[in-house]
Amino acid sequence: MTKFSDLKLGPKVQKAIDEAGYVTPTPIQAEAIPAALEGRDVLGIAQTGTGKTASFTLPMITQLARGRAKARMPRSLVLAPTRELAAQVAENFDTYAKHVKLTKALLIGGVSFKEQDAAIDRGVDVLIATPGRLLDHFERGKLLLSDVKIMVVDEADRMLDMGFIPDIERIFSLVPFTRQTLFFSATMAPEIERITNTFLSNPKRVEVARQATASETIEQGVILFKGSRKDRQASEKRKLLRALIDREGDACSNAIIFCNRKTDVDIVAKSLSKYGYDAAPIHGDLDQSQRTRTLDGFRAGSLRFLVASDVAARGLDVPAVSHVFNFDVPSHAEDYVHRIGRTGRAGRDGKAIMICTPSDEKNLEDVEKLLKKTIPRIESPIATQAEESQPAATETAETSEPPKRTRSRRRKSEPREEAPAPAAAAPAETPVAEQVETAKAEPAEPAEPEAPREKPQEKPRGGRGRSQRQGDDRIVGMGDHMPTFIEKSFDERMTS
Ligand code: AMP
Repeated sequence: MTKFSDLKLGPKVQKAIDEAGYVTPTPIQAEAIPAALEGRDVLGIAQTGTGKTASFTLPMITQLARGRAKARMPRSLVLAPTRELAAQVAENFDTYAKHVKLTKALLIGGVSFKEQDAAIDRGVDVLIATPGRLLDHFERGKLLLSDVKIMVVDEADRMLDMGFIPDIERIFSLVPFTRQTLFFSATMAPEIERITNTFLSNPKRVEVARQATASETIEQGVILFKGSRKDRQASEKRKLLRALIDREGDACSNAIIFCNRKTDVDIVAKSLSKYGYDAAPIHGDLDQSQRTRTLDGFRAGSLRFLVASDVAARGLDVPAVSHVFNFDVPSHAEDYVHRIGRTGRAGRDGKAIMICTPSDEKNLEDVEKLLKKTIPRIESPIATQAEESQPAATETAETSEPPKRTRSRRRKSEPREEAPAPAAAAPAETPVAEQVETAKAEPAEPAEPEAPREKPQEKPRGGRGRSQRQGDDRIVGMGDHMPTFIEKSFDERMTS
């Protein structure tokens, strides 16, 4: 097995790796790093969780350690589709470059241009950006891309979903022809293939299979649910979610709850909070500081339930969660694989529970077709529809039901008694019901433009033959490699 020391990374980078506790490179790192260090273009077909970020940041830092940045002329450029992913890459740089003197700037929406301009003016070695914001800076004449020696495109398939491909092509045309390109995508849709054929030169192709194809450790289940009446379905569905969470009890240490629509993300998060569950939303319309706060809380274990949209959650490096609840069946089957891949990581057990209403049945069929298996039907923990349709019973669905016990997750150091008293979480009567009306009036959102582009993104998702690679001979995820950070966080989680 390859060791990090065989990869010939700079000694200062090696020191940071040792300090991060990494012992062996993951399969994508073992193959991509030597090629990148030789100056070759790399085409990495891999998704988050495989160690792909380090597979491009480590060689970049080693190469950039020589030389100096000039004002307004970054020496390298990393493009990521969302603010969170860009911020995550920046964090990785901080970790791995801590013994090397390199400057970096993060150009993302939701942050003032002024600060970003000042950073660019001082000269940066590494510029990490979302495509829209980068072009905004370029068009304002504040940025010159003619000194870029290494360019990274991360999560290209998500860029495609979000309509960023024209921006990416434009950026490719602005950087020198002689640059080195490191290009990563989870899938190779025809459009992505075209881009790589056009802009990469004889790349080293490294392919790592989707992790979730091997997610045998995830226990899956789906509940076929129909509201007692059409106008009550939404609130009854939220009640069902609470009952499902309660049924899991302490085994549910933390969870991501996925909704298809941003409006539902808000409604579900508010409804859960109202009933005393420790929940917060994350989606593209929330301001950046709120998104960061929510994610930090979830990562640190102080927030128990993250209610998320696919785009907001995709690619984020959050610790493995005990449960994934699919409040809706995703309308793109492959999103189901991404969603449930958040639990049961690295050979650990996880549980993925989905709610399917009659209008979701076609989507369920598609998911099962993709999985090539039937997801076991599980029983609903709440009353039957007949009981539900009794007027008194339905009233309890959202408006008059007393709050359940507070579900705030206890931190390691906190005694159980310190959890807030249930009375403190008594629900207000109306807000959620009102929002349901708003939600119903809105059309479904097939795609969620996430990154802070000033221009609207028209391109719809899906239907472009996302490859569903089923090859058996490829390395899966981190391969046999079990990173120590996963062991550690899991054990810590279990004892907290
Ligand atoms: P990524 O696929 O880049 O999002 O990385 C997933 C996680 O794996 C991150 O938390 C990294 O810090 C971690 N990681 C990356 N490479 C290694 C390695 N060689 N050993 C252990 N952990 C790693």
